[in-house]
Amino acid sequence: MKDKFSSKVLEAWFSPAVLLMSRLTYVSKFAVATALFAVPLIWVVINETVGHFHKIELLERKLIAVERLDDIQKVSRHIAVIRNNRARTLLQSNPLINSNSDKHKTAVLDALDVLESRPSIARNNLIKLAISNLAVTVISGRANGGTEGDSIYSVFGSVNDLVVQAHRLGGLVVSEAGLLNDDDVLSLNIASFLMAELQEPLENFGKIESFGAYFLEKGYLDSQSVLVFSSIFTRLDASYLVMGQNLSSIFERFKSANQTDVIDISLLEVISELQDFSEDVIILDPELEMSDTEYRIECQRLLGRMYKFQDQLVGYLQYRYQARINELKIDLWQRALSIGVLVFGAMYLFMGIFYSVEHSLLQLISAAERVSNGDLETKVEIKTRDELYQLACVFEEMRIQLKARDQALFDLAITDGLTGIFNRKYFNDCLNLSLKNASRSNSELTLIIIDIDFFKNLNDTYGHQVGDTCLIDMGRILTTVLERETDLAFRYGGEEFAVILPNMSSENCIGMVRKIWQAIRESEVIVGVEALSFTASLGVASSDVVGCYKMFSLIQAADKALYAAKDQGRDCFVMAENTSDVLTERDK
Ligand code: GH3
Ligand code: MG
Ligand code: MG
Repeated sequence: MKDKFSSKVLEAWFSPAVLLMSRLTYVSKFAVATALFAVPLIWVVINETVGHFHKIELLERKLIAVERLDDIQKVSRHIAVIRNNRARTLLQSNPLINSNSDKHKTAVLDALDVLESRPSIARNNLIKLAISNLAVTVISGRANGGTEGDSIYSVFGSVNDLVVQAHRLGGLVVSEAGLLNDDDVLSLNIASFLMAELQEPLENFGKIESFGAYFLEKGYLDSQSVLVFSSIFTRLDASYLVMGQNLSSIFERFKSANQTDVIDISLLEVISELQDFSEDVIILDPELEMSDTEYRIECQRLLGRMYKFQDQLVGYLQYRYQARINELKIDLWQRALSIGVLVFGAMYLFMGIFYSVEHSLLQLISAAERVSNGDLETKVEIKTRDELYQLACVFEEMRIQLKARDQALFDLAITDGLTGIFNRKYFNDCLNLSLKNASRSNSELTLIIIDIDFFKNLNDTYGHQVGDTCLIDMGRILTTVLERETDLAFRYGGEEFAVILPNMSSENCIGMVRKIWQAIRESEVIVGVEALSFTASLGVASSDVVGCYKMFSLIQAADKALYAAKDQGRDCFVMAENTSDVLTERDK
């Protein structure tokens, strides 16, 4: 009850759709179904693909930004040399140092030129402005150290601003590309580590080198300097601690990334090495025995290791972005491939469904057309085994029944109602066709017309029912006597019968004619206790003696022969044309 209700509700609900669909051909229905599935699918695929391309594009921008960051770090390193040289020339101007500074200045300006021309930089006015500001500041910077009143701290500090400016430039590039806004926590941590944590120790490296060399050259260390050094050491300590912790936590969390062979954390120990070295040479040796040059060389060696560490981080960041881009590209291809396979498979099956339905429908339509055109012979067959197959089976059953009914109607139309043999109408058709065939194959044909003798008397004496029985018996006799399938017997009318014998000449037919004549004579119809027999007269005409294949002439000749037989006293057969010569069977 509930099911019935829900199916009615569903029917009512879907009836507009059903109404719409029922007006479409199957081809259109399939086209609509394809569109209904294909449009959202294509929409989703396009959205997915665009989203993917967008992600790849963002990552590529970040990768380029890391490359630019690398450029800026190189600029920064040149500026650090200039800064250290400026602090160095505070005590005495040295042309060698000046020329070294100029070399680095040129390198900085060249590097800034190259940086400015990079497409990723060229489109950002803010970064371009920062680059040109930096370039102007580098150009306008003094070559020599400060005035006599200047201290090492203020000279260092003023030139260190250039380094800070370069670092800010890096910050702009990083924030423009969104490096500090990343789904990948490892990349994000490394980028922020590079930007936020490495800068201060690098600055302190510069201070230790410049200040230390300055005091070694000057030959004494005042109490303010000791304080400055101890504050630098404290900050280096803090940096070492924080950086060490941060890095280990980064790599601990991302052990799966297996970065220990890409980034050497132990390089960070250079911070304590520098601190120890500087402490030994400057603080713990009141004589300040080491030469400033030796001191600088050692500091720069240690700084080199810091730079190496910085390069490793940048390199790893590049590698990581590249790996993510590659991953996304492979993912994109895999998706494209799987969607392609899926779509192809679905379309393949869909076309299979379409063609199977279309093929079955066309076969059913053509079968229906055949039947409507009167062809009840060809079987209705379809290859599918679905509902259309069931329809075809029902249709085939209908064809068989129609054929049987058609056959029954035809049989009725050509059969004599009383005797059950063929009727006069069919006689005309058959004789006509048989004569045509005989004419075509140049063979002979014989026609026999049989008339029961004194049938009126028989009727009058025994009654019409007995007469009918005799007629039925005649039908039986004729069909029994005729042997060949092509030999046919007909009720010609009343008590007259006809027999067509194809491929039978006047000469060959005598035997068969006699056989018929005798069979009639010998047959008996039981009437009560009495056995009733009757005779018949036969008029025989063969195409060879008539001399043509014309139906009318043959019937006329047979008729004539029949009359001759009657004239000769009945119960005999007479061959046409030869009536005068042929002896009747009775006379013999
Ligand atoms: P003949 O020897 O010259 O042929 O004489 P006949 O009496 O056979 O010929 P006639 O033409 O005078 O009579 C034919 C009779 O056949 C007349 C008719 O009553 C009878 N007859 C015709 N059709 C039927 C039928 O279907 N049933 C019966 N019982 N009699 C029929
Ligand atoms: Mg008659
Ligand atoms: Mg008769």
